[in-house]
Amino acid sequence: MSVLRINISKLSEGTHHHSLKATPEEVGLDSRFTKELQIEATLEKTSRQLYMRVGIKTSGVFTCDRCLEEFEQEISSGYGVMLVEDQEAVEGDDEEVQLISPDSAHVDLAEDVRQFVILGLPQKVLCREDCAGLCPTCGLNLNLGKCDCKNDEDDSRWSELQKILKN
Ligand SMILES: [Zn+2]
Ligand SMILES: [Zn+2]
Repeated sequence: MSVLRINISKLSEGTHHHSLKATPEEVGLDSRFTKELQIEATLEKTSRQLYMRVGIKTSGVFTCDRCLEEFEQEISSGYGVMLVEDQEAVEGDDEEVQLISPDSAHVDLAEDVRQFVILGLPQKVLCREDCAGLCPTCGLNLNLGKCDCKNDEDDSRWSELQKILKN
């Protein structure tokens, strides 16, 4: 049973806050994620609808794509979803809509939380924005010092190009 379930039966109209915690394993995140997830869910119920906003914080140990060093990074992510019992009730809306069965007493966040943490990761994982990477000749981590290799790339034009490629 998921630890990220919120009881939505007998929910009164108004705003409800829930603070939840889960380990990365409990939501199915891989071993790169090291810190307990902090989840803040806000439910807004009106007579006609139920809207839920979810904010997620955790951190993990990642391998830099450029210098291959491991580093820790915080991850923040979040999403909002309209919980409806009847898909027909919502039309022409670009909000994400999640169908719940009329007699479901809980909403389970685990799968969405897992997906949005993954989506919160940058495409290129870098230990820092200006990571110097490894020397292509001797493999030295250029963040730690300079080597004596004569690499053609080692000039300012190359770093300009890298900036463009990064974006
Ligand atoms: Zn790096
Ligand atoms: Zn070198």
